[in-house]
Amino acid sequence: MGLAAAPASLARVRFAPSPTGFLHLGGLRTALYNYVFAKKHGGRFILRLEDTDQSRVVPGAATGIEDMLEWAGIPPDESPRQGGPAGPYQQSQRLNLYREATEQLLKKGAAYHCFCTPQRLELLKKAALRSQQTPRYDNRCRHLSPKQVAEKVSQGADSVVRFRLEEGSEPFCDLVYGWSRHEVASVEGDPVILKSDGFPTYHLANVVDDHLMGISHVLRGAEWLVSTSKHLLLYRAFGWDPPRFGHLPLLLNADGSKLSKRQGHVFVEQFAQEGYLPAALLDAITHCGSGFGENRMGRTLGELVSEFDVGRIEKHSALLDLEKLSELNRIHLAKQIGDERRRPNLVAEVQANVERVYGEQLMDRGVLETAYVEQVLLLRRGHISRLQDLALPKYAFLWIRPMVACEELRAISPQADEIGRLVLGLLDRPAAALTIEELNRDLRRLPEQVTGTQYSGMMQLLRVALSGQQQGPSVAEMMVVLGREEVQTRIQRALCS
Ligand code: GLU
Repeated sequence: MGLAAAPASLARVRFAPSPTGFLHLGGLRTALYNYVFAKKHGGRFILRLEDTDQSRVVPGAATGIEDMLEWAGIPPDESPRQGGPAGPYQQSQRLNLYREATEQLLKKGAAYHCFCTPQRLELLKKAALRSQQTPRYDNRCRHLSPKQVAEKVSQGADSVVRFRLEEGSEPFCDLVYGWSRHEVASVEGDPVILKSDGFPTYHLANVVDDHLMGISHVLRGAEWLVSTSKHLLLYRAFGWDPPRFGHLPLLLNADGSKLSKRQGHVFVEQFAQEGYLPAALLDAITHCGSGFGENRMGRTLGELVSEFDVGRIEKHSALLDLEKLSELNRIHLAKQIGDERRRPNLVAEVQANVERVYGEQLMDRGVLETAYVEQVLLLRRGHISRLQDLALPKYAFLWIRPMVACEELRAISPQADEIGRLVLGLLDRPAAALTIEELNRDLRRLPEQVTGTQYSGMMQLLRVALSGQQQGPSVAEMMVVLGREEVQTRIQRALCS
């Protein structure tokens, strides 16, 4: 493949992580902005793995990142796994392209071989630090003649290739930060673009790939804003048109501290394992930021796409409030339970959770039936935050019969047996299916029939009898879920006489 840019379509954007570990929330957010930008403009979202620093590559990280993008519902259109017209999408497989690009720059005199030893560079660095200056390469090898270079090469001297930073970097208009310019040449030494092992450095590989992959807009973290002038100098040296740049404000913890891996809860995989829904996670990481319409909870990916406008992204950092995640998950879960297309997957997940947690203890296999689980979901919709909550001890009564001693019930109310019999009587009526409304009405009337008993005390008694728990769903709801026969069994077992 020569160095001709891929055909430019309307919008081509990329997420370009280094596979150095798990995908974290900051990365997910960058990917999401790129995804919504692509979808909004009918373009393509590309995943490119920047693995040129082989010493930092972590085995499995590359597949993990792509897995998590798929899990989050924002799969790339082109990627190492998907392939695509501008591949390969992994920089370590594109070394010939960087070499070719470097040759171009060497030919133009925009790059040069540098033979400085690590020891010399170290001395330069130390001297700079001693005089309290920022270390920078002194560009010594810029001035080697072609003859000197040829000599050193023939002697087998190790060399890197450096890019000749020219004065006069041009201002550029960032889509988020507005006009910006860094006079790189006056603060930095010429950067290495090709290492002695033939691997490129970030700057070269990034620019070459954005060009060859026909990237139209680079949306990346604000930490790269200062590098953009350098990248633009590279584009100029190659004679290529640069893409548009938009730098995304940082995502920080709620207290303004850096979202670092040390704080534990930042990896997407962890949230997936803990049962959070992709939609809730995407909502959480955009809820705190800008670029979309009015802020509100419960926004879906489709809404994010239709509301997105890069011009709406503000410069201030986004403060991530993970305390809201549980509430966001509850909202999205309720939406998904209400969606008949999504419900079967949710049912299957609950079935798997319950089977895993209760297995042999299940009161009968019937509780794993789809109709039963679906009913549980519909009744608990809006109450549970995560699907796996349904396997917690407080919901154990749905899957296993609680052991409740009749003495325990007597301690709650001396009339426990009398109340139990009245409820059995209610159930004896040849009514059709139990409904919450009818049961509520009937239960309200019970206190009239038992002297000295209050409604709340009675409900407490029945809740314990049915679930073994002091708290939980309403008694009527429990009765509807468990069904007539199971309620009868539980009450009969709880009678002392
Ligand atoms: N590999 C860089 C990173 O991990 C990519 C930066 C960019 O998008 O240009 O952030």
